[in-house]
Amino acid sequence: MGNFDRSKDAYKEAVDLMPGGVNSPVRAFKSVGMDPLFMERGKGSRIWDIDGNEYIDYVLSWGPLILGHADDRVVNKLNEVTALGTSFGAPTEIENKLAKLVIDRVPSIEMVRMVNSGTEATMSALRLARGYTGRDKILKFEGNYHGHGDSLLIKAGSGVATLGLPDSPGVPESIAENTITVPYNDTESVRYAFEQYGDDLAAVIVEPVSGNMGVVPPAESFLQELRQITAENGTLLIFDEVMTGFRVGYECAQGYYGVTPDLTCLGKVIGGGLPVGAYGGKREIMERIAPVGDIYQAGTLSGNPLAMTAGYETLSAMDEAAYQQISAKVDKLVEGYKQAAVDFNVPININRAGSMVGIFFTHEGVVNYQTAKSANLDHFASYYRTMIDEGIFLPPSQFEGIFLSTAHTDEDIEKTIQAVRKAFEKINN
Ligand code: PMP
Repeated sequence: MGNFDRSKDAYKEAVDLMPGGVNSPVRAFKSVGMDPLFMERGKGSRIWDIDGNEYIDYVLSWGPLILGHADDRVVNKLNEVTALGTSFGAPTEIENKLAKLVIDRVPSIEMVRMVNSGTEATMSALRLARGYTGRDKILKFEGNYHGHGDSLLIKAGSGVATLGLPDSPGVPESIAENTITVPYNDTESVRYAFEQYGDDLAAVIVEPVSGNMGVVPPAESFLQELRQITAENGTLLIFDEVMTGFRVGYECAQGYYGVTPDLTCLGKVIGGGLPVGAYGGKREIMERIAPVGDIYQAGTLSGNPLAMTAGYETLSAMDEAAYQQISAKVDKLVEGYKQAAVDFNVPININRAGSMVGIFFTHEGVVNYQTAKSANLDHFASYYRTMIDEGIFLPPSQFEGIFLSTAHTDEDIEKTIQAVRKAFEKINN
């Protein structure tokens, strides 16, 4: 058991200063019965808290750090660029470079607009879809999280699911009533919603692999059917690839599953650890955005040169081989979990898409939010605390996936599996 004195002191100070002592709810560790750990530095697959405890990190800033912490290529370029000035509020060449890279790699994107977060990307894509179609309603899936925009904070996953919160106060009824929600992976319900609201639906927004109720991959042909139904109804299909983008594979989830949406939202990996989001799609739709078009969206720091640099260096380093390398590590880790589950008789269910992995403490197959909620949260909390004691840092919630980077080594995986075995052994004692 490590010493957490400095983290405890910092947390005590923070709760007076910030709601819950944190700047984002999922950092509060509430559901695992711990106080948050304050971090000091990271390198590769490792992070160190302010008490000097070392961890193998599977949070990776909730996904962005696909090259691991403080990758030399990213840090060296950032140092170079920072010395030239941090922001200009005028175009820079690095914006073209990152835009070109994104357009080259993401099948649906012919034009892109950079923003500062995933939330901004989804909010902006929705406005665009509504402006473009002249319709107000949208359809989303239960347990999918698309950031905290008013229209999208309805039956949401991530921190909302972790904290067991109902829909958020502060979202006006007049906005909420334009959001239709149906269960993930349920095409029948989608068809039914279209029968009722089809002519009013501006967009269907979906996480092509859901990563905010744990990891739940799309059922066979689910995404294809969404593509077909939306096309038949003049509704835009928006893939929220904030988590899956450049994570599931080289061409994002849309390349991985071979389904092309009208609009795509990006975040996390595209910023390599700096605040970046983006949305893009067909030229004809994107040209409705100001200043060429009439739909307004703007940002003082959008396309910021430091953020663009971190994103560009990160994506440039992620060739197809890098994705395969991460995937092989995930294979090994998943095998270790499965063996530990058998050896210590702990019911688990593992969902996987590329390097996105969700370990659910349930024997039920997890295909949507309802089944995700069947997980045993006491088992999760016990497992979580043992893993921390063993020097493994995981997202502190059953409703989040774990992330790997190119910096994770075979030894890291081996050490993690040993920790899992200890954690599972304890669950049944
Ligand atoms: N969409 C998805 C699929 C996400 O996973 C997240 C964040 N976890 C967001 C949107 C919101 O992104 P941000 O936190 O950068 O606003």
